[in-house]
Amino acid sequence: MIVAIDGPAGSGKSTVARALAAREGLTYLDTGAMYRAVTCAALERGVSASDADAVAELARTLPLSLTTGASGQQVLVDGEDRTAEIRTPEVDANVSAVAANPAVREAMVSLQRKLAEGANVVAEGRDIGTVVFPAAEVKVFLTADPAARAHRRAVQRAGGDTATGKAAATDAAQERAVEDELIARDKADSSRAASPLRPADDARHLDSTGLSVDEVCDLIVGLMREVRS
Ligand code: C5P
Repeated sequence: MIVAIDGPAGSGKSTVARALAAREGLTYLDTGAMYRAVTCAALERGVSASDADAVAELARTLPLSLTTGASGQQVLVDGEDRTAEIRTPEVDANVSAVAANPAVREAMVSLQRKLAEGANVVAEGRDIGTVVFPAAEVKVFLTADPAARAHRRAVQRAGGDTATGKAAATDAAQERAVEDELIARDKADSSRAASPLRPADDARHLDSTGLSVDEVCDLIVGLMREVRS
């Protein structure tokens, strides 16, 4: 079975997909991490996100692998763990431009399909239900209101986690800056020509504002049961 979860930045896709994978014994595939890994490599090698050919060549040749361990998914580039490096503000600021490159998408989608071969998977991203796995048995489009998304992301950046209740101090100005950043990234991801962020026609829309991770997982497990019965 393939469960596809798409949605804007900070809607809770990663947290929910990880929890669902653990609960239902599914393989977790974080496709955003792959676009981030290409972006991180481009930044480190001095390749500009706007140099389409050079970024495409990097995406096609980067020795990228994903492993799933006790602490979630690790991203390895050339055998080195880059899981922390792909989450910097610099990567956040450049990843949408890299992900808008059709040749980069082609390389990543091919890898995503290979990783899912023969497995029961929960995959999260922007184009999972529309492009990567259009025949996925369960498709969810996960949203949350922008202030809630910004709050979660700001707390994460300060070392906390709203999903587990681990507190971290943030202030209103920081949260507004994060909200502006998320809105700009969503706009870029939704308006690009190649595989834009949009719900699949047959996706179930879920709003995670005010819901716990377990509550969202319960709803998705309900959809999985409907498919199985
Ligand atoms: O999910 P995450 O925030 O880590 O994704 C980072 C970026 O990767 C997104 O803003 C988007 O530009 C790109 N992405 C994509 N298609 C996917 C997953 C992520 O274009 N399936």
